[in-house]
Amino acid sequence: MSSRIYYTKPSITDLEVEYATDAARNGWGDRCYEYIARFEEAFKKHLGVRYAIATSSCTGALHMGMAALGIGTGDEVIMADTNWIASAAPITYLGAKPVFVDILPDSWCLDPDKVEAAITPKTKAILAVHLYGNLCEMDRLLAIGAKYGIPVIEDAAEAIGSQYKGKRAGSMGAFGSFSFHGTKTMTTGEGGMFVTNDADLYETVLTLSNHGRARGQTKQFWPDMVGFKYKMSNVQAAIGCAQMERIDTLIARKREIYSQYRTLIADIASASMNPEPAGVINGAWMPTVVFSSESKITRDMLQREFAAANIDARVFFWPLSSLSMFQPCRGNVTAWSIPERAINLPSYHDISSDDLSRVSAVLHHAVSLAKAS
Ligand SMILES: *Cc1c(COP(=O)(O)O)cnc(C)c1O
Repeated sequence: MSSRIYYTKPSITDLEVEYATDAARNGWGDRCYEYIARFEEAFKKHLGVRYAIATSSCTGALHMGMAALGIGTGDEVIMADTNWIASAAPITYLGAKPVFVDILPDSWCLDPDKVEAAITPKTKAILAVHLYGNLCEMDRLLAIGAKYGIPVIEDAAEAIGSQYKGKRAGSMGAFGSFSFHGTKTMTTGEGGMFVTNDADLYETVLTLSNHGRARGQTKQFWPDMVGFKYKMSNVQAAIGCAQMERIDTLIARKREIYSQYRTLIADIASASMNPEPAGVINGAWMPTVVFSSESKITRDMLQREFAAANIDARVFFWPLSSLSMFQPCRGNVTAWSIPERAINLPSYHDISSDDLSRVSAVLHHAVSLAKAS
């Protein structure tokens, strides 16, 4: 049988190993925050934002950011039904309620009209998640936010490398969050980042992130509030520093894989992939194929075909409102329909051209099966 094609895996070179080794050997005592500070500086520069705080996860960054915005019991946060649960979980940690709205059929991100229609007096934020590297319609969402006085948060965990009208994903909202989980475009093993241009929000999150100890507090072991503990370690940040030195290459390779897939399946009329409309650069974290309803190609069929070819392809996110802990929102017809006829394709940096062709051959085979049925 042909060798297994994995779905994602990090791109790790001698540089990551060298920095992590240095952090493990020498990054203690006075130097225990050195790589963390360097990593935050590099990330700020890359993104073009004023403030950044490295965290242990994107979930933690979202939790602290939302807490700092004052989101709490009984409040509502509007987000797309199509998402990984990590974006919704922090809302529930704060006693607030995620309000799931439908997505646009081309970007698979928040439909701004549905967002505006879902606003109530309890709405405290709009959570814009740039799904699979595709961008939300930020101009429209920011205008809605401004009109109603509601902050727009960007979960850019999947969108490092994505740009909207010259601005990097994560740099446009009240705050942005990133993930460096091992499946993402850049990794620190586990890890995340909180970013903002708002000095007050930054100070609040900085205090929250340090068990509630304010920066200017001179009394030892004296928290000013109950905070959180979502810090990144220096060893993880060392890996992050190496990844930041290679970030342009890491993003370029993701975009190259995406573009090769587009070419390989350009002849399949019933298939669409992550869009890249005018004014947008897609960071292409997760090349994904969505088939038309008429194609008769289903998720189950795609999963079967990829499994038979020893290729690890993954299902499109289930609507969060279809999960047992939330109320079903069947009115979100696009969010409920797309996962039934879509698949995420393998896209790790070191994937070979031959392997991309093998993936494309499976898609072509599925098309011929569906035609024959
Ligand atoms: C991966 C991911 C997260 C979770 O990140 P962690 O670092 O694992 O907490 C959150 N939001 C989105 C959109 C993600 O893709």
